[in-house]
Amino acid sequence: MKNLKKIPISNIKLKKTDINYLKECIESGWVSSQGKFVNKFEKMFAKFCGTKFAISTSNGTSALHLALLALGIKPGDEVIVPSFTFISTANAVKYTGAKPVFIDSDPESWNISPSSIEAAINTKTKAIIIVHIYGHPADMETILKVSQKYRIPIVEDAAEAHGAEYDGKTVGSFGELATFSFYGNKIITTGEGGIITTNSKMHMEKITQLRDHGMSRTRKYWHTKLGYNYRLTNIQAALGVSQMERVDDIIKKKIEIASLYEKNLKDIAGIQLPPNQKNVKNVFWLYNITITKDFPISKDQLIHELKQNGIDTRPLFPPLHTQPIYSTGQKLPVCEQLYQNGFSLPSYTSLKDSDILKITTIIKNISNHRRT
Ligand SMILES: *Cc1c(COP(=O)(O)O)cnc(C)c1O
Repeated sequence: MKNLKKIPISNIKLKKTDINYLKECIESGWVSSQGKFVNKFEKMFAKFCGTKFAISTSNGTSALHLALLALGIKPGDEVIVPSFTFISTANAVKYTGAKPVFIDSDPESWNISPSSIEAAINTKTKAIIIVHIYGHPADMETILKVSQKYRIPIVEDAAEAHGAEYDGKTVGSFGELATFSFYGNKIITTGEGGIITTNSKMHMEKITQLRDHGMSRTRKYWHTKLGYNYRLTNIQAALGVSQMERVDDIIKKKIEIASLYEKNLKDIAGIQLPPNQKNVKNVFWLYNITITKDFPISKDQLIHELKQNGIDTRPLFPPLHTQPIYSTGQKLPVCEQLYQNGFSLPSYTSLKDSDILKITTIIKNISNHRRT
């Protein structure tokens, strides 16, 4: 494999402005969780989502945990979650002592199926977490109707969907609370980091206390609640501020990458493109395809051949109801099929058009020249 140019699945490139803000923060000495960048980042993010408050946290998982604690979720409660998501969505429920109840995906959006949510509601159901999977918003209109009908609050897990829109409204502003992640490979990054958005002052105050050891907000070192150390550092927030300054460009690039993939792949027999519904702005955190029976080789064989050409791919999330720590014995056919047949192609923002062409040409050639 001489001179084979590798195309990884993810490739984080920090810019000069990122480095400059980090340098400024480090030189100021405010390297822990106090300092001007934390407040600035939270203000910028609340504005971006159109919410009153944004409370930063150590990561997207701690954000979910705090959002559920703000709602008073406790042992004995049930929380509805999609099965097709990253493990954190369900683990955060477990951390509160409540039980995650897994729901299948809607085949049109890959997101939690609204009709199945309603069927799973009972007197123990205390919250519904919806995930905007891979950057495609969930069906918020129907989900909010269910939420209102049964008076059960929504938490949006928007870890993969910064800036995505449903009916022209930004995700993170639909639920009673919403959470985001700034892990390295997410739409924007702070290295590790998370944030919670909400319009509720009560939730904001409770979360602020819980992320800081449960310390009273009026009396130092006085602890009225069991809290956590879930704070974001000023260094991480400095990176966050500089990333937020160009978040619109990053999202634009993600959408351009998806459009080019779509253009090159849309007429290939046996390749199905990812969801992109009319009333949404999908930010395409990852670009996923699924293989049907019409494709001449199996998904695993295709992944193998891409790998031989230096191209990395990534599996979709194995449904949570099949994970060893949950394994409920349920049959949820839509998400099981997605996992079976789908995978992600490289879609990081420094990916070149020529890289995309190289990837799609390999797929096209297999489709054209290899008939079984
Ligand atoms: C990344 C992710 C999280 C967790 O975020 P961390 O910052 O890694 O803790 C939660 N939910 C979903 C859907 C994610 O993709």
